[in-house]
Amino acid sequence: MTPTPLIGLEIHVQLKTHTKLFCGDVVAFDAAPNTNICPVCLGLPGALPMVNRAAIELALRAAIALGCELHMASSFTRKNYFYPDLPKGYQITQYEAPLATGGSLDDIPIRRVHVEEDAGKLLHDRLAGRTAIDMNRAGVPLLEIVTEPDLHTPAQARAFLVQLKRLLQYLGVSDCEMQKGSLRVDANVSLGGTPTEIKNMNSFAGLERALHAEIARQQALAAVNRPIIAETLAWNDVTGELRVLRIKEQREQYRYMVEPDLPPLRLEPARIDAIAAGLPMLPRQRAAQLKQHYGLRAQDADVLSASRALADYFEEVVALTGDARAAASWIMRDVLATANALQTEFAISAPRLAELIGLIARGELSSVAARSVFRRMCESDATAAQIVASEQLAPFDDSAQAAVWAEEILRSHPRELARYRAGEARILEFFVGKLLRMSNGRMDPRKARAIMTRTAQAR
Ligand code: MN
Repeated sequence: MTPTPLIGLEIHVQLKTHTKLFCGDVVAFDAAPNTNICPVCLGLPGALPMVNRAAIELALRAAIALGCELHMASSFTRKNYFYPDLPKGYQITQYEAPLATGGSLDDIPIRRVHVEEDAGKLLHDRLAGRTAIDMNRAGVPLLEIVTEPDLHTPAQARAFLVQLKRLLQYLGVSDCEMQKGSLRVDANVSLGGTPTEIKNMNSFAGLERALHAEIARQQALAAVNRPIIAETLAWNDVTGELRVLRIKEQREQYRYMVEPDLPPLRLEPARIDAIAAGLPMLPRQRAAQLKQHYGLRAQDADVLSASRALADYFEEVVALTGDARAAASWIMRDVLATANALQTEFAISAPRLAELIGLIARGELSSVAARSVFRRMCESDATAAQIVASEQLAPFDDSAQAAVWAEEILRSHPRELARYRAGEARILEFFVGKLLRMSNGRMDPRKARAIMTRTAQAR
């Protein structure tokens, strides 16, 4: 019998503040190296840290939304270790008394939530044969969220991370852009015995693949009675391999000590109440609301609530057209095909999409021709009506001409006509398709079917 894997995630997200956690330096992803630095984040002698209230505010939003128990007094700790991107020789984090503990997301229990500062960044590709250091990131506020090891499959871990990311984006706590490093995930994995830790998973797919690889590795060791060592492993997404980085540190090695330059962080109940009252609707509620209000299928409501911007966009189109089904299908099929679901700007604005849907509803445009109008709208600022006029896409309504085409189609397909007459009703769709094509998709399919039926039966 193979034991069930136990997977825990440790997630770091960059809090969406204007300035760093303990000083007034601006947080900017694209700034020139070492331009947003000061004595505090460089750890120069005599520099004193001060806590950024905005960062604590964002951390509290997340902790409240996760249903955590908030601690009215938490403390900051120095985690001592040496690394070139950490000139202070320690990271200020929360260890013994974190901001919050407990809580859950989608029934996965959360162990703790705390704030800490980021380190600098080593750049290996700037100088030939040498490593450069950019300290702009040092002191940037991070939120660390640790789950209990209660995830059991790689797919479940991935799904949890997707929901957590969605939640934090809804809350405005973090951009959670993995490719920019504002969401980083580590995982611990065990088969019931010693856990190992995996670092360096830079995508959802990477997380899933790395977990599969580590579970398989531990199962193979167990099969030959070899022990699992408490190691820290790095995932290489290109080769699909895990590499041992180091034997996992014991907590003693970090020589945790209370940060002497910062007083305990105290929360006022009134402030917590105000933050809780100001929370936006959360993703699960928003999906449920879309499903209920507009009669959407659960999976469609899930897609359309991927971001607040997307849900708002959908609701605006519905408000303008009164047609939730058309809005949902146009957005999921066409709009999302041209944009990332989490973008705040879509290929065409809600009023423009609503105009297009309105033309179809009023019979002024066939749904087939509408697809090409949509593509044109994405490339220009022209309205749907302007494109219909300039491309001559208005519905084809000449029944006499259609009847002539129908005759032609039957005449040039005698074998198919014989099958139709022999009772093969399905073949009619073949004729209808031909007729629609002759009208360049401008004919109403129902009308085309009626004319085709009439013509075929008259022969
Ligand atoms: Mn951390």
